[in-house]
Amino acid sequence: MSLFLDQKYLMLMSNRLPLFKKKNDHTYNCRCVLCGDSQKNRRKARGYFFAYKTDLRYKCYNCDISLSFANFLKAQDSNLYSEYALEKYSEGHNVPKLANVVPEFKFDEPKFKSSDEKLIDKLLDRVDTLPETHEVVLFCKNRDIPKSKFKQLYYIDNIKDIVQLNGKYKDSIKGEEPRLVLPFYDNNGQLSGVTCRALRGETLRYITVKVKDSVPLIFGLDSVDQNKPIYVVEGPIDSLFLDNAIAVGGTSFGKLDQTGLEKSKLVVVFDNQPRNKEVCKLIDKNIEQGYNVVLWPQTVAEKDINEMVMAGHNVKKLIKENTYNGLTAKMKFIGWKRC
Ligand SMILES: [Zn+2]
Repeated sequence: MSLFLDQKYLMLMSNRLPLFKKKNDHTYNCRCVLCGDSQKNRRKARGYFFAYKTDLRYKCYNCDISLSFANFLKAQDSNLYSEYALEKYSEGHNVPKLANVVPEFKFDEPKFKSSDEKLIDKLLDRVDTLPETHEVVLFCKNRDIPKSKFKQLYYIDNIKDIVQLNGKYKDSIKGEEPRLVLPFYDNNGQLSGVTCRALRGETLRYITVKVKDSVPLIFGLDSVDQNKPIYVVEGPIDSLFLDNAIAVGGTSFGKLDQTGLEKSKLVVVFDNQPRNKEVCKLIDKNIEQGYNVVLWPQTVAEKDINEMVMAGHNVKKLIKENTYNGLTAKMKFIGWKRC
């Protein structure tokens, strides 16, 4: 009941909250009016109202303030707060004590670390900084993506804004939907591109934007340990389920030649498509070239690593037990392919 009342009063004052919108049931978002939110990006809105126990709570991911809706309202509009308190009181709820509840608001300067801060952090929200009930967080959780990887992922509210990374895409990006953003970095940790995954079933599942034309887009390249086995998969999301993994984004494993990574350290993990002629040709070629390759056992029906994880397979173990090279790989491959 209190949640209902909180939401009613939030609606009454919502026209005063910039970029206010409902995100989903009991979650609302706006630019933070307490700290002023990002000074560099006017589209950033990092204030969230969300259900906490039986009340609505406010949290800003820019200034880190966290307070009950009652206190938020009191700080913003004392007249409306009086009405709210009266209504809440008549309902029999505890009225928050009026005295000494006004929080001390900190009007800190926005926390940008000047030029060395990643461009992408200025433009987008990192998934690990968003509330548990946020659409993109729910998407990642539903796909069993490990929480420890959320800090590598970003969220964009409107895909059109991605052209700020490279104006060349201005006319080719038509939609305005929100997406999950997976950033690619080069060996020096510089952003080389992003791929944006659909969250709401759009036909165009991935939209890729290059920031640098000269470097091959390989996901995870910046954080790979070259002294350990490096797993090379097709999809960036799939790579999140493995340790020390990179993704070529598709089947263009030829890019690996440009990375300077030592061939003997690489384990090439194609999707599980023994009936796909093109894929079989590529695996054959990789074996010829001396790569370690993974041939999924017939007990696995799923097509990619994410599906396998969601079906309950121990993917790391499967990979360890089904990696082959040279002559063994050739023989295993003949028995494996179905085309
Ligand atoms: Zn704030």
